[in-house]
Amino acid sequence: MISHARPLITWTDKGLFCEAGGFYIDPHRAVDLAIVTHAHSDHARRGSKKYICASSGVELLKTRLGSKIDARGVLYGEVFDLGDVKVSLHSAGHILGSAQVRVQKGSEVWVASGDYKRDRDPSCDPFEKVACDTFITEATFGTPKFVWEKDLEHGRMIYEWWMENAKRGYNSMLFGYSLGKAQRILAELHPFAQKPVVIHKTIKDLTECYRRDGRKLAATTDLEEEISFLGNDETLSGELILTPPSVLKEGWSGKIGKYRTAFASGWMVGSGQGFKRGGYDHGFVMSDHADWNDLNLTIKETGAKKVYVQHRDGVLIRHLRTQGIEAYAIDELEHSRYEIQSGMNLVLI
Ligand SMILES: [Zn+2]
Ligand SMILES: [Zn+2]
Repeated sequence: MISHARPLITWTDKGLFCEAGGFYIDPHRAVDLAIVTHAHSDHARRGSKKYICASSGVELLKTRLGSKIDARGVLYGEVFDLGDVKVSLHSAGHILGSAQVRVQKGSEVWVASGDYKRDRDPSCDPFEKVACDTFITEATFGTPKFVWEKDLEHGRMIYEWWMENAKRGYNSMLFGYSLGKAQRILAELHPFAQKPVVIHKTIKDLTECYRRDGRKLAATTDLEEEISFLGNDETLSGELILTPPSVLKEGWSGKIGKYRTAFASGWMVGSGQGFKRGGYDHGFVMSDHADWNDLNLTIKETGAKKVYVQHRDGVLIRHLRTQGIEAYAIDELEHSRYEIQSGMNLVLI
């Protein structure tokens, strides 16, 4: 039976909106109530009156948006009422405090995934499978060429690269995003590192949030401080420097001395070409997002009959349709379009 009722979550000019609950999910603009899946800047934006996020993400959100924001933390799995709906947050395995948002009205369940991954990551809770009728999924790596080996010993591989460079008098400059990737690298290195990892100032406060949450990270020391200890003719040597690539524009690369570079990202996949294109000496395929196989596995495991895809949607949507799953791009959740879609379904049945 096809109903022409409004979808539980719609796509608006401010982002995903649940009218029955009176909240937005990761709104693009300031709203009254924002449920934020995680603290990355494309999901967490300033200006909303109230925020709700996973408890383990509150500090990161405040570090990013300001300590005065009104942010309420809820535990993973804790069910709370908003308007006519029941809401709960479930671990997305993406970064510390990342959450999928489960919304239930009557017997109908929707889940908005936010960013997620299934790989082992010692810096955050693992991904939780959540059953639903309708799944709104990210698809950053939503084409079949993005498939990588799972659960590699990233810590050992990075440590060995660091030691190899150090033996030859080079520093190891490892580039990665300052929230999530940097702390995951520190957590992966924790069992291996024999000396502190030198970190850029943009990584410091976020890293402390992880430590306060009890995550075991490799010891760190500040890049600016290490450089300030150097004599006039001295440079750093044999260090692992964890930093965003912008450090090379900061005018002190002369003080860093000789170095080799590497980037840690899912974009590094594909016979070494990813890192060579970016001009790096080395690449670590280490993603914060699900690869093609895990996107498909996750969608299947939700049992969802309808799937809406955010980012890089075309190939995945076509693939899901061949699997008998009703799949659409996210903008099909605009209210006017959804009406037409329901009409089409009626014709199809
Ligand atoms: Zn993210
Ligand atoms: Zn994102």
